[in-house]
Amino acid sequence: MEDCIFCKIIEGKIPSAKLYEDRDTIAFLDIAPINKGHALVVPKKHSVNLLDINEADATAAMKTLRKIAKAVSKANSNCAINLEMNNGREAGQIVFHSHMHVIPRFENDGHDWKRTHTKYEGNEMHLLAEKIKQLI
Ligand code: AMP
Ligand code: ZN
Repeated sequence: MEDCIFCKIIEGKIPSAKLYEDRDTIAFLDIAPINKGHALVVPKKHSVNLLDINEADATAAMKTLRKIAKAVSKANSNCAINLEMNNGREAGQIVFHSHMHVIPRFENDGHDWKRTHTKYEGNEMHLLAEKIKQLI
């Protein structure tokens, strides 16, 4: 993928603060961290996001994600961690190469990630569950 910034990092054409690399994945620090130590876990093979990635690469990424989350937490006095993956523009994705965020969290760090909730009406929740079940 010629214009993909993460492919360029993987190929070593753009520098990064690399944390880890194996055959299928790489992890490096996010250049604009939500908190310091914010890392990204990236499957090497280009895919757009979770809706596009193959199972093997998703599995490899999850293994690396666990390693990186534990190390980032230990490096910050065993801090809490948020994992986030933005899949699609409306979900906030801006780099269209699959990646997962590992974000250190601290008491009163100023990031309120609580979201507003909506409500189901009548039988809507069960109908939607049926619809999703049929598509698994
Ligand atoms: P998103 O697509 O919204 O999940 O976020 C993409 C993330 O990639 C953002 O948090 C950016 O700060 C980060 N990012 C973009 N370019 C680079 C880069 N060259 N090195 C490290 N992180 C980057
Ligand atoms: Zn890419």
